[in-house]
Amino acid sequence: MWLVNGRLKSYNNYLKVADQWFRDILGLLYQRRTATRGELIQATGLNPACISLTIQHLLRCGAVQRAGELRSTGGRKREVLKLNSEAGYFVVVDLEGTRLRVGLTNFLGDIRFRWEEDIVLRQPLGVRRVTQGVQMVLRSLEPLERARVLSAGVSYTGLMDDSGRVTAVNLGWKDFPLRERLDESLNMPVFYGNDGHCKILAERWVGVAEGCANCVYILAGVGIGIGCFVDGHLLEGHDGMAGEFGHLTIDSSAPDRCNCGKNGCLEAIASSPNIVRQYMEKSGRSGGDPQGHPVTEVFAGAREGDPAARAVVDRAGRALGVGLSHLVNLLNPQLVVLGGDLIHGHDLLAGPIREELAGHCAPKLLDRLELRVSSLGHDSGLKGAASLAFLNSLRDGELLKRMTGPVMLQEHPGEEPSRNRDRQPCPNEKVR
Ligand SMILES: [Zn+2]
Repeated sequence: MWLVNGRLKSYNNYLKVADQWFRDILGLLYQRRTATRGELIQATGLNPACISLTIQHLLRCGAVQRAGELRSTGGRKREVLKLNSEAGYFVVVDLEGTRLRVGLTNFLGDIRFRWEEDIVLRQPLGVRRVTQGVQMVLRSLEPLERARVLSAGVSYTGLMDDSGRVTAVNLGWKDFPLRERLDESLNMPVFYGNDGHCKILAERWVGVAEGCANCVYILAGVGIGIGCFVDGHLLEGHDGMAGEFGHLTIDSSAPDRCNCGKNGCLEAIASSPNIVRQYMEKSGRSGGDPQGHPVTEVFAGAREGDPAARAVVDRAGRALGVGLSHLVNLLNPQLVVLGGDLIHGHDLLAGPIREELAGHCAPKLLDRLELRVSSLGHDSGLKGAASLAFLNSLRDGELLKRMTGPVMLQEHPGEEPSRNRDRQPCPNEKVR
């Protein structure tokens, strides 16, 4: 029996309640990196006895570690806690149009192993290449570490329907049964997230949007998408497809034809291949292969004063600015993060973006709006997939048991071997 809020509760009741305490505390340590018991009490609303009991268990099973002590003015010590980075691992996959990235991350999203290869844009990608990459990173692990692999996170470009079928022009997929194929070949729980959603998760976790409640990530490269956090919650939409920013109509009378079949979409004007295409047309080189010319060459030309390059980059910046102004008017974000290939031209794009924002948004909405460039580079997809895997593993009852239960009672780097300590009943262990 346990004493909770002054009332005796049975151990089984405690088990049910404790799961939520674990979620609250692990979730907070995930987002904040470190916290004292006092901060955990304040942020979770749990009483000191619950916090103490739950932390005692998390320290014992190795999911949480002591990070040090703070001393208050009265001389009282306050213990600082953190997640144990090596307590669990995630397989992570980033599926975009030109490169396949597979990795293995620890609890904190640090990439321990990676396997990457180029893929051909718009050529159908086979799942076997993904599973080969996963096998490669799993082979890098010691048996004890392998037992701590909890789940996989997959960041994909395109749209996934309820049955897990993905349509993604850049991966050459139309209703491709991604979930069915990967679920059966990876042999572990797999969580899937649209690339824009994964990237904003990564930026909020370890990037420039850390802890920001209202922020937008613009993924502008081969395609254009977004991920949004609104009042601290990821904006997913009814079918999980919110964020098709690239298909906002910027100019319906424009000749630029989009992959989706419409004219004048943002993506048709401001994505990397379309910037290159317009540059080739303007400079009299139409008919060449836009994929053979990286967008960075167009940016370099614009910096050197090439009029065709300047005109195309200015048009792309303005299109992005008009699209973004709709988001700012709708969502009132505090921060907009620019990511994807176009970060290589942020110095050229920022001016036209800001001018269009000023032309289309109320000044008060722009007073405190910050525009920043992603700091995570090409790892943002893998780190976002790790974040997706961590958060979904917390929500899943069986995986939470593994995160807080006997399977993690192994020796962790920097921790005293837990099996040598006095064992107390763990809330997630079955009592017989
Ligand atoms: Zn479109």
